[in-house]
Amino acid sequence: MLISIGDELLHGRVVDTNAAWLSGRLEALGFRVHEIRGISDVEEQLVELLAEVTPKADLCVATGGLGPTADDRTRAAVARAAGVEHEFDERSWTEIQRWFEKRERPLDPSNKTQAFLPAGARSLPNHLGTAPGFLATIGSCRFAALPGVPSEMRGMTAEALEPVLGEVFGDRLRPLAHRTLWVLGPSEAELGSILEDRMVPGGPVEVGVTAKEGLLVVRVAAQSQAEVVQPIDASREEAERLALEVADDIVGRLGPMLLYRGEDSPSTALVHRLLRSKQTLASAESCTGGMLAAAWTDVPGSSAVFPGGFVVYSNEQKTVSLGVPRELLDAHGAVSELVAQSMAEGARRETGADFALATSGIAGPRGGSDEKPVGTVCFGLATPFGSRAWTRHFPNLGRDFVRQRSVWEATATMLRELGPG
Ligand code: ATP
Ligand code: MG
Repeated sequence: MLISIGDELLHGRVVDTNAAWLSGRLEALGFRVHEIRGISDVEEQLVELLAEVTPKADLCVATGGLGPTADDRTRAAVARAAGVEHEFDERSWTEIQRWFEKRERPLDPSNKTQAFLPAGARSLPNHLGTAPGFLATIGSCRFAALPGVPSEMRGMTAEALEPVLGEVFGDRLRPLAHRTLWVLGPSEAELGSILEDRMVPGGPVEVGVTAKEGLLVVRVAAQSQAEVVQPIDASREEAERLALEVADDIVGRLGPMLLYRGEDSPSTALVHRLLRSKQTLASAESCTGGMLAAAWTDVPGSSAVFPGGFVVYSNEQKTVSLGVPRELLDAHGAVSELVAQSMAEGARRETGADFALATSGIAGPRGGSDEKPVGTVCFGLATPFGSRAWTRHFPNLGRDFVRQRSVWEATATMLRELGPG
């Protein structure tokens, strides 16, 4: 159970990134997050929520409301929900004082409120800010309070909370094992029907699909289902085995639709693949306007594989920078396979790269025709063994979609061209 506390979250001024980050960390550690709630700073409401949720969870982690101001009510609410006093904690107070001394900042009397903890709670030090967190007990539920500021929350989770949870829950934890598969080609619905029997929620292995501009990411998450308490290493091994088994089965079903498996993004996978074979790749971009170069150079280490690229938006620049023959442009138009191929060949020639990829298309919203509607993108690929071109008709889901979909197409083509290596 995760609770995100703060009015600013309810009013849409701040996006709740804490819960998303925490759920990933806690699941990796072996918890299953059943519910995420967002709530205001009003003490009464938090007390009510705690009474409702703590009986049905082993662990509840809340972020926010630990500051020194009047709207920071987490400490008081937890003491009330646990039915204990609100006690002054010398250790926390010493740490808060030390924090201010170190930074030579004046200590406000209100900071003293931050040293109050529900009786019996264990304080969690905050090395990045003033508000200490704490771990308390409400009925049969452990309750952890963390600061709202994301950097402080993350620091405290890694340094203080996770070790304590490991101690408290020990072998009751069931770590989650993940496998990630990347798919380009089928629609989300087509993929859904291929995986239908696997996508049943609540089982030992959960399979989920997310889509981003036509790129599909299949996530397999498995958890040991042993009825009895077992050593955490055994749980982890069983989860790994289950995840691998299901991932292998899905890979078999996907055949050539599978792009690759692993955690890396497509650009990272491509740059790493090129690094392994010591090959280089250049770009020649019209409709993607530099997005290919941006995506590939986003990856650390890309300088060894990406000498450079060309953004050639006008016909004139296609000719001047890449030597695309004017007659070709006049006869076939910029959005044509022959021009895309010539752009790729030009970029390969100019940079001396092993490969070059070119895009030329109609991203919209205007510029489409019956023959070449918005979403038509021509690609060119030049390789040491010759060059080729092809056309894709992407759905007209807006300019951003067509351009990003083109980046996936180009990156996927390169990955397929190079093979697993
Ligand atoms: P502080 O000691 O800084 O007051 P706090 O524990 O009281 O810490 P809040 O006052 O609730 O935390 O939040 C501080 C800031 O952290 C917020 O203004 C907001 O920008 C950010 N924040 C709080 N909760 C979240 C959240 N769930 N996701 C992302 N950012 C958050
Ligand atoms: Mg605050």
